Amino acid sequence: MSRVGIMGGTFNPPHNGHVHAARQAMAAMQFDRLLLIPDNVPPHKTMPHGSADGEQRLEMTRLMAREIPGAEACDMELRRGGRSYTADTLRALQRALPEAELFLIIGTDMLLTLDKWREPETLCALAGLVTVARDDDDHAALEQKAAWLKEKWNARVWLVDCPALPVSSTDVRADRALCRAMVPPAIYQYIEQQGLYF
Ligand code: ATP
Ligand code: MG
Repeated sequence: MSRVGIMGGTFNPPHNGHVHAARQAMAAMQFDRLLLIPDNVPPHKTMPHGSADGEQRLEMTRLMAREIPGAEACDMELRRGGRSYTADTLRALQRALPEAELFLIIGTDMLLTLDKWREPETLCALAGLVTVARDDDDHAALEQKAAWLKEKWNARVWLVDCPALPVSSTDVRADRALCRAMVPPAIYQYIEQQGLYF
């Protein structure tokens, strides 16, 4: 059975925190493939004015994939259109890759709210949950949430033990110098070339 890691996000833009998270998850879990999936319309946030469009976010996700051995960008959520629910994506991947074992890579911030996502029971049934530190994490709260998800929906949770690289797309969109420092050079070049954000 091949092991497939899945990292979804808005990637508006991808930054070193995403790269770090993907590499840490890859090192801890030994995936055969890692799919980076930009969402079409994220259910949980409104896109800020002046955002990159889907095609630009996909292109930046492709550039991000080059930084992570085994990773590839996947346009399935953009092609599907509409709001992007991870449960739909996992169902589609299960159909497309029936032999694969699926793992969803998320920042610890996302684990804490996972029960508020659409169909959390489906997420827990179809994929292992691999969390990567995001910031000054409250380890007790994370362990407690993991235990609760396990109890309620039989979740399989891995809390990857690694240092955090606390940066967000929101931060880098607000500050060109931070963007240059915290975004892979090829992506920064693309941002400049396309006249994005600043
Ligand atoms: P925004 O500021 O627009 O919300 P973001 O930086 O949170 O953007 P997303 O594209 O929303 O990035 O995140 C996609 C996934 O990557 C989520 O699971 C999120 O938890 C994770 N992630 C984002 N930044 C980091 C980071 N610095 N360290 C670890 N995981 C991260
Ligand atoms: Mg976010």
